[in-house]
Amino acid sequence: LKARVIETEKAQMLSEMAASISHEIRNPLTSTKGFLQLLQNDSLSKKEEEFYIKLALDGIDQANNVITDYLTFAKPATISYERILLQEEIRRAVRFVTPLASASNITIKAEYSLIRAYTYGEKQRFHQCLLNILKNSIEAMPTGGTLSISLRVEQFTPSLLITDTGIGMNEEQLNRLGSPFYSTKEKGTGLGMMVVFSILQAMNAKLAISSKQNDGTSIHITFARMKKVAI
Ligand code: ADP
Ligand code: MG
Repeated sequence: LKARVIETEKAQMLSEMAASISHEIRNPLTSTKGFLQLLQNDSLSKKEEEFYIKLALDGIDQANNVITDYLTFAKPATISYERILLQEEIRRAVRFVTPLASASNITIKAEYSLIRAYTYGEKQRFHQCLLNILKNSIEAMPTGGTLSISLRVEQFTPSLLITDTGIGMNEEQLNRLGSPFYSTKEKGTGLGMMVVFSILQAMNAKLAISSKQNDGTSIHITFARMKKVAI
């Protein structure tokens, strides 16, 4: 019954979101089309040509980002509710973002509990959730820093702490985090954290975020209590 309620809420939210998402994808595509049309003009200088090509490519990137931040979430639920081994999924997500982190001189420090921590949910969505969080942390440290990831189990309850030494957020930014299309980035989609909130909610996980401007951000996720533990 519970899964069904979540599905219904999500379906409703998805239909509300669909209109705005199309808009967010169509906008950059329209500008790309405009720049490509400008490029049909033979009398452009090499410089102008390069400029329009860059703008056209930016539009495609932007549309692509909207799809990446949102797609796994919007995809119909074909995967069922399954056991997720947290160590495994976190390692997979870390592997995924390591090239991105290295490109910005970011050191990743990850530590895992000895107890095998697990939770329940949809693996692919949880993967998307981790990627959206890790990507934000990396994007908050354009000139390098440390990304710390720590998985712990206390009293049968797994928790994950993700901390960056990035630009941080002020109170207003922190309050707006997770509202659709709220972004402070030039090429942001403002969809990443909304998807994170929604996925974690469906997993019965709690999220706490603290941040200090010019200092960094900590994301603390507490998962549902485990019924039994295995070492
Ligand atoms: P996007 O990354 O596309 O901007 P998100 O929903 O992922 O959209 O994030 C929304 C906003 O929240 C970001 O634009 C940024 O201002 C802020 N934010 C999220 N995570 C962090 C972080 N780790 N450090 C600093 N700011 C963050
Ligand atoms: Mg993001």
